[in-house]
Amino acid sequence: MKPTQFPAHYWIRQDDGRLRCELCPHRCRLKNGQRGRCFLRVAENDEIRLSAWGRTTGLALDPIEKKPLYHFFPSSTVLSFGTIGCNLSCSFCQNWDISAERDLSRLRVETSPELIAQKARDHGAESVAFTYNEPIIFIEYVMETARACHERGIRTVAVTAGSILPEPRRDFFSVIDAANVDLKSFREQTYSRLCGGALAPVLETLQYITRETSVWLEITTLLIPGENDSEEEIRELSRWISNRLRPEIPLHFTAFHPAHRMLQTPPTPLETLLRAREIALEEGLLYVYSGNVLHTESSTTRCSRCGEILIERKGYRTRLLNLGPSGRCLNCGQSLPGRFA
Ligand code: SF4
Repeated sequence: MKPTQFPAHYWIRQDDGRLRCELCPHRCRLKNGQRGRCFLRVAENDEIRLSAWGRTTGLALDPIEKKPLYHFFPSSTVLSFGTIGCNLSCSFCQNWDISAERDLSRLRVETSPELIAQKARDHGAESVAFTYNEPIIFIEYVMETARACHERGIRTVAVTAGSILPEPRRDFFSVIDAANVDLKSFREQTYSRLCGGALAPVLETLQYITRETSVWLEITTLLIPGENDSEEEIRELSRWISNRLRPEIPLHFTAFHPAHRMLQTPPTPLETLLRAREIALEEGLLYVYSGNVLHTESSTTRCSRCGEILIERKGYRTRLLNLGPSGRCLNCGQSLPGRFA
């Protein structure tokens, strides 16, 4: 089974005849027959094509909290899908079986953009999420699917590492309602050594989303023992979000589990997650959560003014307690940042 190919945007022809992809900071230079680092974009017949149009590894219904998005229509259902490949190559990838996959036959489910949107409606999902692997690398499929979703009143969610160039960045986020962006470290060296990427473009994406769009943004940092969990780095990362973005942006510190090329690294202790949360709160962030662990208090949303519990989460069971329909605390009236029914 050959996945449907689609003419890709965001590339130019160089003087030497090679085609340069202008989608992400790698700017791969491809001769006919060559694939980009992300695997999905391929030079064929003198153009760059996307090799996953209309095909996915599968569709699943998830709670929106699983993305994780904690302030975007809490306890709603999202229809999730992804493809294969990635423009980063993180040694610690928790989804490496699809991000590092090089077999196109894994894209076994044929799903047009319209069919995905329709399935979301049929199953009562309020949103469709582009997730599991990096959606930037299949941007054309994302944009068509997002249009089909919006025509049917379905919202769109992107779970992304944010490594994208400015022109496609504008297009991509123009069709997205909410994003969870992975901020994998606050050190260029770690991005280069462990992810084969760069920190600066991710920070640019975060600033772009915050300043130029109405996309609801949450940020996730997977804490890896000995790699990105020093107090100094966590403090700098949190301070940057608080000062350069907005203190009300939710930050999720999630637990690493040994995977892919980091099987010898131990899982993240709960104490590390809780300490990171304390540091981020000290730096002024208002909503900081722990993820991939069962810990009720650090998964709970409290009112930033009176401390009342607004949303309680136990695993993926979510209860809205003192949250009014417009996202206000029923105790003191303070508004909770986010998108609510
Ligand atoms: S999107 Fe893929 S082909 Fe394009 S520059 Fe990035 S890694 Fe290379």
